Amino acid sequence: MRVWIDQDLCTGDGICIDHCDDVFVQLEDGIAYVAEAGRPCNDPGGSGSLAQVPDRHVGAVIHAAEMCPGECIFVEVDAAPAASVTGDSEQPAA
Ligand code: SF4
Repeated sequence: MRVWIDQDLCTGDGICIDHCDDVFVQLEDGIAYVAEAGRPCNDPGGSGSLAQVPDRHVGAVIHAAEMCPGECIFVEVDAAPAASVTGDSEQPAA
């Protein structure tokens, strides 16, 4: 799962940081940004800066998005891997 913030809508209240300060950071401009491996993704920010969410933070990030008063946290769920097919798929002759 990846996440990004629309900074144009961010109120700067910091609720997302309260939920997960490994994925969300607040910079000097008072606005929240996503972060990856401790590095803020603020260049360019917005949808151009998606951060990969570690599995252990998925729940907290989703909760932050639900609680965000600016409704400006967007999560993108990666496609599920294709199911593996095992066994013989041939049908016996009638
Ligand atoms: S919760 Fe939403 S509005 Fe508040 S600081 Fe985080 S991104 Fe901005």
